[in-house]
Amino acid sequence: MINKPYLLNLSSVELKELLAAWGEPAYRAGQIETWLYQRHAADVAEMSNLPKSLRLRLAGETGLNPLTPVVTLDSTDDLTRKTLFALPDGREVEAVLMRYEQRQTLCISTQAGCAMACPFCATGQLGFMRNLSAGEIVAQVLHFARQLDRESKRVTNIVFMGMGEPLANYAETWQAIRRLNDPAGFNLGARHMTVSTVGLVPAIRRMSKEPEQIGLAVSLHAPTDELRNTIVPINRRYPLAMLMQAVRDYIATTHRRVTFEYALMDRLNDSDMQAGQFAELVQGLLCHVNLIPLNPTPGSPWSGSPDERVYAFRDRLEAAGIPTTVRLRRGIDIAAGCGQLHNAHSKGEVLSLARV
Ligand code: SAH
Repeated sequence: MINKPYLLNLSSVELKELLAAWGEPAYRAGQIETWLYQRHAADVAEMSNLPKSLRLRLAGETGLNPLTPVVTLDSTDDLTRKTLFALPDGREVEAVLMRYEQRQTLCISTQAGCAMACPFCATGQLGFMRNLSAGEIVAQVLHFARQLDRESKRVTNIVFMGMGEPLANYAETWQAIRRLNDPAGFNLGARHMTVSTVGLVPAIRRMSKEPEQIGLAVSLHAPTDELRNTIVPINRRYPLAMLMQAVRDYIATTHRRVTFEYALMDRLNDSDMQAGQFAELVQGLLCHVNLIPLNPTPGSPWSGSPDERVYAFRDRLEAAGIPTTVRLRRGIDIAAGCGQLHNAHSKGEVLSLARV
């Protein structure tokens, strides 16, 4: 839609300004926000406590949702669902719903593509298209919230681990987090949200000063600069010593446990020696390590470590007293696993994906 603002793209202040310009009373903004973020309205026609004239004007002069779902894939076990959305300019992003016994976790995107160029990640291989707006980020959450409403379930956790580097789109990501956290907005506790970063040091420092208690996950993937320079190229700008100092300062400021992600790649970063070096790197920090056996992506030269290496690596970390879990593999049959989000469907590959 062109030249019409999307309601989900308007901040509270902007919505109030729009309504004031229309001569509407100020409380209408709050009513509309309740419909958008708490009742998950998909259409202004649902906003039954607004006068019909206002509903008509909203329908005529604004859009509600900047995202159009294009393809949805369910994993064969039905526990993971991935949806590809088209943005108003035709760019595309994916988001993933993961169902567990007691929780429903959403993995959402903050950028179309990614500029970080990690060679093992499908999004990194795509290159960077653009930042998402806060509304485009929040709209992914509302899409799945509407689906869960029909089952009397709700979104219990949100991880900013989809396409893109959230801290490279800091302002919009943080605005989305505020709206998701706001009791008058989506009202999800900050502790139920986690931002995952490739390790942008200035942004980690900035994040430590935010009032919201958002979780921080840092993608390490290698215990030495030599190796990390090759698989996480931004390491050349923010090498491990600088990154770990920022994380130590973050923990000192926030007293929050940080997660370190480590994607295990066969014979690249999964040896006993590397487990020992990694243990040393994170020793003594208030942290938790998440080991992710590398998921396959089409252009990646590496494959995931075999199970026995994964468990040996974990055991080595645990022996050093570092709390470690192996991340459950989810949605691999629909390419919805970590690092697999890349809009394959838009290139006509949807059927082959669905058949894997
Ligand atoms: N840009 C952010 C968030 C997106 S990626 C970041 O780098 O943290 C979310 C996690 O998936 C990161 O830890 C990322 O390194 C990891 N990942 C990327 N490709 C992967 C793959 N092929 N297999 C497993 N994990 C992968």
